[in-house]
Amino acid sequence: MSTEATLLERCGSACELCSATSPLQPFVVAPHTQVTVDHAIMLCDTCREQIENPETADANHWRCLNDSMWSQVPPVQVAAWRQLKRLSESEGWAQDLVDMMYMEEDVAKWAEIGMDEDGQKHVDCNGAELKKGDDVTIIKDLPVKGSSMVVKQGTVVRNIGLAQDDPDLFSGKVEGQSIWLRCEFSRKK
Ligand SMILES: [Zn+2]
Repeated sequence: MSTEATLLERCGSACELCSATSPLQPFVVAPHTQVTVDHAIMLCDTCREQIENPETADANHWRCLNDSMWSQVPPVQVAAWRQLKRLSESEGWAQDLVDMMYMEEDVAKWAEIGMDEDGQKHVDCNGAELKKGDDVTIIKDLPVKGSSMVVKQGTVVRNIGLAQDDPDLFSGKVEGQSIWLRCEFSRKK
């Protein structure tokens, strides 16, 4: 049986986080990169988009984690834990669930990779470490996906934030809009 067929059988053709039965695709849980039964989960478009674009996340959608965090499937536990951890910054209920959640030690370690800022460094074009709150200069013109906006070379982005699950991205305000930018095109001031 193919990996995808095995995954579909495991999830009963329902999203492994929110149980939606809309079209599902395998999602590889970082830092793994290959779709395997042990490292991937089946997700609906809504869950995948919100995980990939944390700034669009709708906290209420993630109430589903109340159920899926009890999954026996390690990559589902990891994805649920990371999402709860992210939400717990603003949602008390998410913090309560994080506190209740149980994972085997090796699964917990996997979940924490990438959530721990020391474990996954964000670096600028020169390899200098970026920290939350830094000011950076953009080193080339960068079109912003899904808009006509271009962040011009030389733009200074102040007080940046760091993507918790992606060492390539930082966030910042440009022309009043909060956007994600790639660290490799920034230079720490
Ligand atoms: Zn879903």
